[in-house]
Amino acid sequence: MDHFQLKNGVLHAEDIPLSQIAEEVGTPVYVYSRATLERHARVFREGLKDAGKVHLAFAVKANPNLAVLRILANQGYGADVVSGGELQRALAAGMKAEDIVFSGVGKSREELTLGLDQGIGQFNLESEEEGVMLAEIAASRGEKASATLRVNPDVDAGTHAKISTGKKENKFGVAIDVAPAIFARLSQLDGLDLRGVAVHIGSQLQSLDPLETCYARMGELVAQLRGAGHTVTHVDLGGGLGVPYKPEDNPPSPAEYGAMVARVTRDWDVTLMFEPGRVIAGNSGVMITRVIRIKPGLGSDFVIVDAAMNDLMRPAIYDAWHDFEAVEPSGETMTASIVGPICESSDIFAKERVVDRLETDDLGIFRTAGAYGATMANTYNSRPLVPEVLVDGDRYAVVAERIEPATIMAAEHVPDWLK
Ligand SMILES: *Cc1c(COP(=O)(O)O)cnc(C)c1O
Repeated sequence: MDHFQLKNGVLHAEDIPLSQIAEEVGTPVYVYSRATLERHARVFREGLKDAGKVHLAFAVKANPNLAVLRILANQGYGADVVSGGELQRALAAGMKAEDIVFSGVGKSREELTLGLDQGIGQFNLESEEEGVMLAEIAASRGEKASATLRVNPDVDAGTHAKISTGKKENKFGVAIDVAPAIFARLSQLDGLDLRGVAVHIGSQLQSLDPLETCYARMGELVAQLRGAGHTVTHVDLGGGLGVPYKPEDNPPSPAEYGAMVARVTRDWDVTLMFEPGRVIAGNSGVMITRVIRIKPGLGSDFVIVDAAMNDLMRPAIYDAWHDFEAVEPSGETMTASIVGPICESSDIFAKERVVDRLETDDLGIFRTAGAYGATMANTYNSRPLVPEVLVDGDRYAVVAERIEPATIMAAEHVPDWLK
């Protein structure tokens, strides 16, 4: 369910016509719906109502916009961060330090120190080496860092290879068979309060089966750790729930997910932690683009739009599908390839697809662009950095400005010795 619907023949975000935003802010532009974000945050939480004590940490990398993070903070969410920059954003958006979890396979000494300086709630350690470094830094300050050990459960998430993280050949976490030994060694260190384990097997999961297999293995691990005399109070079950990108997609609902979690974890007696990203933000955003011109192609026409792979990278890097619709559909359709202006053949959003008929200067949207959209945008081909807008009922605000090439060039320098 989202709040991007046709009203009087024009697609709206809540009560604002998308054509108005396109006129006033320009295109391409991302548009987020506050009501949709809040709804998804609520539905995810309600899905876990039978799962006991729960901590929710929004995966900041899915959508790090400060206004989006503020909405989630107001919904009682903390943050799952994977860099010092994301940590700063979560704090700037008003998330409490103790509600922040620091994940990421390559946390630097500086980032670990920043986390300690800020008093974050938990570090998810991705290796024994990282645990040793964190313990050493914390001990030198007379502190103990709260941490879990991220485990690689060797489960195939059944999703795109580039967003699978839980197979033994992936770089994430420590292999589940060596986890008890590593846990035992790390738990001896003065600077660590090793309180549990964490897992995250991938993103855009279309089935609960791999998650259930993974969580069952985590349950066995918890029992094994306790059997060895360790105290386990926290288990972080990660994120990964998929969203529908196509009308026929049917990912598990948060309620189905929550019921599975409640069943599998019934006897664990821990605080369960979750790191949802896409399932909260995905359908809460669209990207508006304008047709530059239409060019005849071999099989079908090329609709050349003013958005490109630098603005929305998912189709280019994951072969991802985003539904494309006219902002003011005529009811007619056409078969076309939707492409951006960038000088790469991968700059294509849709190949020979049946879409709403569009003419030059018409507006269209890519749906389900609220997660892993603007956050991955860049300025390749010296294009501006795409702006973001948040709609709330009948008002909207620009929550990230378009950054023009001149601003970016201002940070570049030609050294004197080239003059
Ligand atoms: C990316 C990531 C998430 C969020 O994944 P979604 O599929 O967006 O829910 C959660 N935890 C970790 C460790 C991640 O890297």
